[in-house]
Amino acid sequence: MAIGTALSQVFPLGSRLNEQGRIEIGGCDTVELAREFGTPAYIVAEDDLRARARAFVQAGREWGNFQVVFASKAFPCTAVMSLFAQEGLWCDVASGGELHLALNAGFPGERILVHGNAKSETELQAALEAGVALIVIDNFDEIDRLQTIISRTAHAPSGPTAHVRSGDGPHAARHTADEADEPNAADEAAGSNIEVLLRATPDVRGETHEKISTGQADSKFGFSMVDLPLAIERVRAAKGLALAGIHAHIGSQLLELGPFRREVAALAQIGEFSTWDLGGGLGVAYSEQQRPPEIEQWVGALIGAVREAGIAEDARLLVEPGRSLTANAGVTLYTVQSVKRNVSTWVAVDGGMSDNMRPMLYGSVYEAHLADRPSDPATATRCVLTGKHCESGDVIARDVPLEDPRPGDVIVTPATGAYGHAMASNYNGVPRPPVVFCKDGEARVVVRRESYDDLTARDVR
Ligand code: PLP
Repeated sequence: MAIGTALSQVFPLGSRLNEQGRIEIGGCDTVELAREFGTPAYIVAEDDLRARARAFVQAGREWGNFQVVFASKAFPCTAVMSLFAQEGLWCDVASGGELHLALNAGFPGERILVHGNAKSETELQAALEAGVALIVIDNFDEIDRLQTIISRTAHAPSGPTAHVRSGDGPHAARHTADEADEPNAADEAAGSNIEVLLRATPDVRGETHEKISTGQADSKFGFSMVDLPLAIERVRAAKGLALAGIHAHIGSQLLELGPFRREVAALAQIGEFSTWDLGGGLGVAYSEQQRPPEIEQWVGALIGAVREAGIAEDARLLVEPGRSLTANAGVTLYTVQSVKRNVSTWVAVDGGMSDNMRPMLYGSVYEAHLADRPSDPATATRCVLTGKHCESGDVIARDVPLEDPRPGDVIVTPATGAYGHAMASNYNGVPRPPVVFCKDGEARVVVRRESYDDLTARDVR
């Protein structure tokens, strides 16, 4: 890496080595950021988030009725979610807590879509009260649960305040003439239907870690292709529900387009619907060698597959990117606490599995760089970057070339903007890191570091 040059695609857009040979994110010197905000810290390049959101929206224009839905699980943080709300995205939530975050971040109910394979009655009720756009039904029990809530609410004085469909317009589900002409009792009581999708597992497997592969028939998510016809029948017959279409999400961190094309082809066999939600899953580069498809290529491949499958041009398409919107926008800063040499060279930092669970959960590979000097992979010591937690598995990255690492050095691990903050914990009583937004050389804290008092804040004495 030459001084003054841009960094690889693993880093946020616009990152570079500045004139002092230090890594700069969003125009901010990472050594200075570590000094000002402490470590570990999540650093996010605001412009990068916006650029990726705009790239998805722009690519979707090729279809027209195309909605980009941020899978908030990737980075459930108010500042990130507000930014995407401003960019006009929708939001996918998979729990009552994520729903709360989305509303708080400024997403109106009509731009929220609700997921989850084990939604509680309370969560469903909250979704209806928020007037969410779509509920993605995962299983038969959920159909029953929704019906119980609807019939109870229909008999209550005020009726549900949920999102509604009036039975016409481009978003309306296709019903039989009988259904459309004769509103059922719950419809009349509620004055409307609740728009839902059914989650399908199309039995398509992409190449990814089995723990984040979700499209196979034997999955905890959604209806198998065998069960789907009955689910469709039951929802169509259900009072107060309007089946808008089908959803599928075949897995995460997929680096090939083929499985997505197969997903669309399989879904199109199910029937005709007005809405198709094709999920997320576009992979990202965690290391310089990885070359995932570009956002435009992924969206283009999906639209191409939709056309090839003969899906009507006026259908509404949704996609739910998470990782590909946020992963490369963020890096984590750590400070080296010790360097131990035995069989390996162990570089121990002040964070680890409490701020990034992915290496421990899925064996995910990360790069690590010294913030203030580039390391030559040909000569630098191959190190194990390890965390401070009481488990041998607390290894952030293996075999990373670091030039003469020393206590006090600031380490930058790129591509930590997805599922890092989201899965952070207080293991070993470590307060969770702050989130710092950087833009044009200005840095601002958008989530403060947890304090020791926060660790006891929920105690009841
Ligand atoms: N949609 C659903 C239903 C998911 O379960 C997930 C991830 O788990 C996503 C979207 C986002 O996936 P990714 O972050 O890979 O884009």
